[in-house]
Amino acid sequence: MASRRSASDVLVIGGGVIGLSIAWRCARRGLSVTLLERGRVGEQASWAAPGVLAAAAWHRRDATVAFQRESLRRYPDFCRELESDTGFDVEYTRCGTLDLLFEEQQFRMAMAEVDAASGFRDEAGLPLLRLLTPAQAGQLEPKVTRHLLGAKYCTFNAQVRNSRLLHALDAAVRAAGAHVVEGADVVALIRDGHRVTGARTADTSFHAATTVLAAGAWSTRIDERVGRHLPVYPVRGQVVAIDAQPGTITRIVKHRKCYLVPRRDGRILIGSTVEHQSGFDTDPTAQGVNDLLAGARRLVPPIEHARFIRAWAGLRPTTSDRRPYIGPVPGTDGLLVATGHHRTGVGLAPLTAEAIADLATAGRTNVDLRPFDPTRTPDRGSPGLGDDADA
Ligand SMILES: Cc1cc2nc3c(=O)[nH]c(=O)nc-3n(C[C@H](O)[C@H](O)[C@H](O)COP(=O)(O)OP(=O)(O)OC[C@H]3O[C@@H](n4cnc5c(N)ncnc54)[C@H](O)[C@@H]3O)c2cc1C
Repeated sequence: MASRRSASDVLVIGGGVIGLSIAWRCARRGLSVTLLERGRVGEQASWAAPGVLAAAAWHRRDATVAFQRESLRRYPDFCRELESDTGFDVEYTRCGTLDLLFEEQQFRMAMAEVDAASGFRDEAGLPLLRLLTPAQAGQLEPKVTRHLLGAKYCTFNAQVRNSRLLHALDAAVRAAGAHVVEGADVVALIRDGHRVTGARTADTSFHAATTVLAAGAWSTRIDERVGRHLPVYPVRGQVVAIDAQPGTITRIVKHRKCYLVPRRDGRILIGSTVEHQSGFDTDPTAQGVNDLLAGARRLVPPIEHARFIRAWAGLRPTTSDRRPYIGPVPGTDGLLVATGHHRTGVGLAPLTAEAIADLATAGRTNVDLRPFDPTRTPDRGSPGLGDDADA
């Protein structure tokens, strides 16, 4: 017979960056929290990501990008608080991104974006986005190719060492008093009429006032009814790690889907493939690795002498309109969802967690969640997040 655990205020299903952040913020507000993770926390998409924290196109003014910008703006405080709770330095670095421009059309679009973004300034009053000549780009990053038309330089963008972020979140969740259960494979939600009252594994039932579904690419496999209304599917991304001379590049260098992320220790992470037909397969492929290395070599030629470390892949939780589902599920009390963050989940974690913690404590939030409303009819025509790159 299934055993029954005593009820919590909040039951979080999934221990990726989204579920951990939610559990942390809820526990910090004094709620009793249980987090269920099928394997070990922080080992799926959130671990696979290079941790780029980059805002989507600056000429956009919609509520979707406003949410992302606000989440990214909160990152330094989020990391500081994590560090003070746990002692972990998660290597948040506002390194900026240098987006290399090779084609005329891309150059013209960058000019228009820089123009439209002229009102966005940094703390010193300088524009967040600038267009650089090849010589100026070369001054900032001497190892990037000179065969380009120019570069779009964004000083707002940053990175975090996400493996450390996940360790820190795990430690913070436990330090805040939450109960983390690893090896807990949720097989179903527990329902009582229109209300979800918890979730169960093969042998244990967990009850809670609020259940939060944050199981990444697997979210909608857990409950058939939720899956039907809120489809989320896996999109594989492969990453290659190389060991280059420290200082080879100091900013994130990118072109279209290929980007290089320099870590403080000299490692460079090269991302990332976007594979919609991968299913739940997390093995990297020869083709994927080859494409990433070739793309990266074109941007920063000296990396061909770097030592290959390893390659890996993760599954992005993706929705058809590239916007996550965040909030209550229509017709179902006691259930909140926070999933479908596609290529931007590391960056969106702080504000997603704050909004869900508001909803779990007060039933309402001031965060504008309209673009992420689980009741929406996905509209491929309206802009989402992450079409351009992981961020
Ligand atoms: C290659 C790659 C590069 C990326 N780069 C970036 C980037 O640079 N910046 C950025 O912001 N985003 C990036 N992303 C996207 C980001 O990683 C995701 O949006 C984010 O990690 C999603 O977090 P999550 O917690 O929803 O999912 P996950 O990290 O996948 O976590 C979901 C968890 O739920 C657990 N789970 C699943 N089913 C069950 C069950 N039945 N019972 C219990 N637990 C369950 C899983 O084991 C897993 O631990 C990238 C993704 C990939 C794959």
